[in-house]
Parts: sequence; structure tokens; C-alpha cells
Amino acid sequence: MFVMGILFSLISTLLNIVLPLIIRNAIDMRKLIENKMGIQVLLTIGSLLIASTLITAMGNFLVSREGDRLIADVRTKVQTHLMHLPTSFFDNNLSGQLASRVINDASILKNFVSVTIPANISSMFMVIGTLFVLVTLDLKMTILICFCFPLVFLIMVPIGKIIERYSIKSQTELSNLTETTTESLRNIRPVKLNHAEKGVLARFYRYIQNLYHISVKFDEVFSITNPIQTLVSYSIILTLILYGGARVTNGTMTLGTLVSFLIYFFQLTNPINSLAVFYSDYKQAIGATQKINEIMSIPTEDDNGLVISGRQEQNPLILKNVYFAYGQHEVLRNVSLRFEQQKKIAIVGPSGAGKTTIINILTRLYPIDKGELLLGKTPAYKYKLSSWRKLFSIVTQENSILSGSIKDNLLFGLDTKPNNTEINHALNVANLSSDISLMPRGISTIVGEQGVKLSGGQRQRLQIARTYLKQTPVIILDEATSSLDSDSEKNILTSLERLSKDRTVISIAHRLSTIVHSDLIYFVDDHRILACGTHKELLAKLPEYKRFVNEQKL
Ligand code: ADP
Ligand code: MG
Repeated sequence: MFVMGILFSLISTLLNIVLPLIIRNAIDMRKLIENKMGIQVLLTIGSLLIASTLITAMGNFLVSREGDRLIADVRTKVQTHLMHLPTSFFDNNLSGQLASRVINDASILKNFVSVTIPANISSMFMVIGTLFVLVTLDLKMTILICFCFPLVFLIMVPIGKIIERYSIKSQTELSNLTETTTESLRNIRPVKLNHAEKGVLARFYRYIQNLYHISVKFDEVFSITNPIQTLVSYSIILTLILYGGARVTNGTMTLGTLVSFLIYFFQLTNPINSLAVFYSDYKQAIGATQKINEIMSIPTEDDNGLVISGRQEQNPLILKNVYFAYGQHEVLRNVSLRFEQQKKIAIVGPSGAGKTTIINILTRLYPIDKGELLLGKTPAYKYKLSSWRKLFSIVTQENSILSGSIKDNLLFGLDTKPNNTEINHALNVANLSSDISLMPRGISTIVGEQGVKLSGGQRQRLQIARTYLKQTPVIILDEATSSLDSDSEKNILTSLERLSKDRTVISIAHRLSTIVHSDLIYFVDDHRILACGTHKELLAKLPEYKRFVNEQKL
């Protein structure tokens, strides 16, 4: 379709090259007009003009539509790629700026493909074709025109350079602006409660100002371009008329040829202008693609390997002599843990010890640096990542509630659609039924961005219900009940325990009451596992654990 669109514009270019010739003949063969053949000539010119208009329109449409398709493709590819990049990538990149790649940079590409490329292809054709015709018409006039046109380049090339420089700056500022806007709006509560509106707006104003100044630069350039172009055109036309007029007077050139030269000149200005800025348009598109390419060149998480079978799910999960660092920041040093299936296992230790990190590694959000992660005897990397992550459902410390309804959140990421009984069951387990029955729209209640319309405890219980519905072999509760009072925590844990008899539960908890009955407790401190055992065993052998327990009792 793109090629066809370009073919159409080539045909219309060809028509535009032929038309002045026909006009020239019409002027020079005055006899034809006197013989009333003029109507025929007018009809030919008219129908050629109409044909050229229609064909140009068709060509424009086809090419633009391919541009639209391209931008849709690019955006889809970038977003899909982004979603499969390793977790660490997102630790070091701002989401608003990434969004700007998907939205703003992609649109520059569209412009390049659907405007710049076709315009320049037909421009080249136009310039070459016209020059060919002009040489056959009158060599001297052609040489004159050829001397005049570099003037256009003299003006347009420096302008192109300015456009190139500022358009890259403009993309950067635009992405900063996107980031500031989305971040401040998403975090409107912390902004208000930290009285940070002024600071946030100051940053916003700065980016807006930068963007404004860049736009003014563009305005300066573009406001000068047109008048100067007109000036240059007038000068060239006057030269052509002066020289050509003299030639017509002394009979070495026909009036028709002079007129056709003038028409050709008009037709050439736009193509020549667009050729003159092609290089800077190209650089601008390259600037945008570079940023997109940087993202696209980062390898995505590898999702090849075996699918975990129901029988393999019953094997223990093992971390063996594992080392792990976030970049340079070492967090785990030679840790070994074993999670037997269908057991209740707890990880305890002071804040910042690395408990969540153990979960991050276990779920393969981050790859380990050294050591082994195994399911039974098989290394984790042998299994498909997506299959591996389906072993787990997790309630985290972080808010993982999305905008939409309570039901949307319950079904988030579920492959199967649970029936109402199952949903009610999950809500009961999570101790959420009575809360929902008080809401005007029940389970269809819209919870707002990140669940702002729910209480902290409700958000956690909603996550627990979601986790329960997932029916995965392993349930991970990372401080999952920290926002709950101890009564409702106890309720939830008892019902969870009762209902997840045949499932593994890994819980990280501050509160002692939630872990004392675990089959196995790991105590993490100072980047290491200090000891493991049951509550009683640890009390007996690990003074750090004893201190931890005593502090809790206090
Ligand atoms: P815990 O869950 O035991 O409170 P974490 O495992 O969350 O502790 O964190 C352990 C250490 O790792 C902390 O010092 C923390 O600053 C660091 N950390 C956690 N997440 C990241 C990350 N994404 N990038 C860099 N450092 C991190
Ligand atoms: Mg943690």
C-alpha cells in the first residue's frame, strides 16, 4: 500500500511535469485557439488537472494510512517489549519518560514515514524530470535556474540544522513534562500532605518554560523562512522575466516557453525546499528512533523452557548458597533455604534484612548472581518463566490494587473465570464480605486509582482474596496482614490455613502470633540466614531470635 501510495504521487508528479508543456503549446499555437480548437486544449488541461488532484489525494491517503499503521505497530512493539523487560530495568527508569517513548517519540516516526519520505521521493522525481524537460526546452534558461536554486539551499540548510538541534531538545523536555505530570497526579495525596504542590509545580513550570523557549525558537525560524523564501522566489522570477522577456522580444524564445519556465519554477520551489531539509528531518527521526532503539535493544526476560507439571509442583523449592546484589548493593550473602511443599514456612528478621529480596529471587523477578534456585533437582532457569511464576500467588507490602472495580481486582491475572460461589468463598476467607455488603454497588464498586477508595486493611484483604482465588501451589504473604488489627489478622490466617491445607504458605511477618505455629522459621539478619528451626528450637539456640521475640512481647 505504501509503495502504491508512492506510485500514485509519482504519477501525479509526472502529470505536473507534462502540464506546463501543454500550456506552452497552447500559448504558442495561437492559431489553434483562433480555429476554436482552444476548447479541446482547455478540456485536456482541465481533465489532467483533475486527474492529478485525485491521484495526489489517493497517494496521500495511502501513504498516511501506512504511517498510521506504522505508529500503531511501533507503539505496540515498544509497549510489549517494555512489559517483558527485567524488573531491574524499572528500578532505573522513570515510567513517565518510558510512556513518552511510546507516545511522543513514536509520532515523530509517523511524520517521517508518511510525510517526509513520500515528499522527498516525489521531489527527487520532480526535480530530475523537470530539469530534463527544461534542458530540452531551453538550455540557457535552465542554467540560469540552476544557478538560482542553490540560494534556496543556502537558506534552508542552516534552518534545517536549527530544527534538528531543537527538536531533540524538545523531545527530551516533552518526556520530562510527561513524567512530572503523571507522577504528581498519581501521587496527589502525598503531594498534598507533604505540602509539596509548590515544588512540584515549580518543576512543572521549568519544563513548560523550556518547552516554550524551544517552541519560540521554532517560531522565530519558521516566521523568517516563509518571507525569505518569497523574497528569493520573487528575485528569481524577476530575473527569469527580465532575461526571458529580452529573449522573447528578440525572438530567440517563444512566450509559451517563458510561461512554462515560470510554472516549472513555481513547481520546483516546494520539492527543492523539502530536499533541502530532508537531512535534518532524517536526523530528527533518527533521534526519536534512537531512544526507542535503546529500549528495544535491551534483552527481554527469556520465556523459554519447560512447563512445570502438576507432579513437579510437589517438589521442594530450594535456594542454595545464593548471592544477590541490586546493582552494586549486595543484599544476600550465601543464603540457603528450603521450602517443602504443603508446609507453613516463615521468614523473620529485622527490616531491611533482605526478606522481600528472598521472595523477589524465589519468584524470579530478579535473577540470582551466584548459587542455585531449584525445584526439586531441576534448576529454575530450565523452566519457562511464565510457568514458574504461576507457582506463586503473592500478597505484598506494596499496594497492588488497580483502578476498576473490586471484581476486576479479584479476577486480575486469572486465566479461568470463577463462579459466584467461588468469589464469595474467597471474600469470606479474606474477611471482606461484610465490608462489601455495606458498599452501595457491592462487588462492582469502583475502587479508584490504586484503590484509593478502600481502606489500607481492605486493600490488603482484597489482595488476599485475589491470591486465594489463584489456586497456586504456593501462597506468599509478605507482611500481608501488617495493615490489619490483630483480631482480623487472626481470623484471616486461621481461615487461610484451614483452606490452604494442601498449599505451601510462605509468610513474612512482624507479628509473632502469625509465625509461631509455622513448620519452619528462617531468621534473616545482616544479609544472611542466621538459623532455622521451629519456634521452640530457635528460642533455644538463637539469642537474636530470643531478643526479637522479647521485643515483640513488650
Ligand atoms: P526486608 O524485606 O527484609 O525489609 P528488602 O529485601 O526489601 O528488606 O531489602 C533489603 C535491602 O535491599 C535494603 O537495604 C534495600 O534498601 C535494598 N533494596 C531493596 N529493593 C531494592 C532495589 N530494587 N534496588 C536496590 N536496592 C534495593
Ligand atoms: Mg520486605
